[in-house]
Amino acid sequence: MSELRFDDRVAVITGGGRGLGREYALLLASRGAKVVVNDVGGNLGGEGADSGPADQVVREILAAGGQAVLSTDSVATVTGGRAIIGAALDNFGRIDILIHNAGNVRRAPLAEMSYHDFDAVLDVHLRGAFHVVREAFPEMCAAGYGRIVLTSSIGGLYGNRDVANYGVSKAGIIGLSNVAAIEGAPSDVKCNVIVPAAVTRMAEGLDTSAYPPMGADLVAPAVGWLAHESCSITGEMLVAIAGRIARAYIAETPGVYRPSWTIEEVGAQIDAIRDTTGSMAFPVVPDGHADHIRYSFGMAAQGVPHG
Ligand code: NAD
Repeated sequence: MSELRFDDRVAVITGGGRGLGREYALLLASRGAKVVVNDVGGNLGGEGADSGPADQVVREILAAGGQAVLSTDSVATVTGGRAIIGAALDNFGRIDILIHNAGNVRRAPLAEMSYHDFDAVLDVHLRGAFHVVREAFPEMCAAGYGRIVLTSSIGGLYGNRDVANYGVSKAGIIGLSNVAAIEGAPSDVKCNVIVPAAVTRMAEGLDTSAYPPMGADLVAPAVGWLAHESCSITGEMLVAIAGRIARAYIAETPGVYRPSWTIEEVGAQIDAIRDTTGSMAFPVVPDGHADHIRYSFGMAAQGVPHG
């Protein structure tokens, strides 16, 4: 198998100073990418600032003969997003790859979550994604090439206790990715979601003693492929956890058609409505939106109750 390389490609990696982002930065740089290592370097909640972690990654890349520059701007603001993408354009003249990975965590039960903590997490994960995508996307479309990887989570797909802010952000990122995939398709701008899991500082407080090997090195190759020219998918989600790489996708049951419904009839039909036999997925690209409507209208056009 010939080595997949990133020579002459310029990559921005948010949250590149620690954990998963650090691993992505080192991997892409080792394969020839010019990397903007972005990280504010704050604590797990996203407070404080320290240029040390990202600076250390830049130093490692340079010491190994690679190319990298430091960015300590926050993804959480419009000006920060502009400065982060600007660092790629100013230093390397282009942007080919955007990996939005920066993240913070603030836990509280839903009934007690403060508006401040809700916003602080949305600002980094979800609004942060928009801030950097909004700046990079037009550049990529104009250049006729781009690879975007946004970061969701098991908590975004399935929820989790005490992280309403995080769950909302990580689910919202899927919506942003889908739109970028659709609008980027004519310009070879591909956008996908990584659903990672690795033992990083985000696992602080968890008992990981019974976990299988679960390093960031087991996630980085999936992100590397999504960031590569040879990536053949867009508008999709890849899961990477403890050596398992899989696809996550939205599915629908065939459902039940009736020309009219009562509440009682919904109750009577609920098992058939939920029956996953014959489930289907409508791919985001080229046009899952229209496929969904077409399928539904097709049942109505047949005019006979199903289920
Ligand atoms: P981490 O805390 O080790 O790294 C995240 C980095 O993001 C930190 O270095 C932090 O300083 C940086 N960051 C935070 N706010 C920022 C901001 N406003 N601007 C720029 N940088 C900022 O965490 P990690 O485990 O490597 O997580 C990376 C991503 O993967 C996150 O989006 C996280 O939600 C996601 N994720 C991780 C896991 C896991 O198991 N580790 C699971 C699901 C999702």
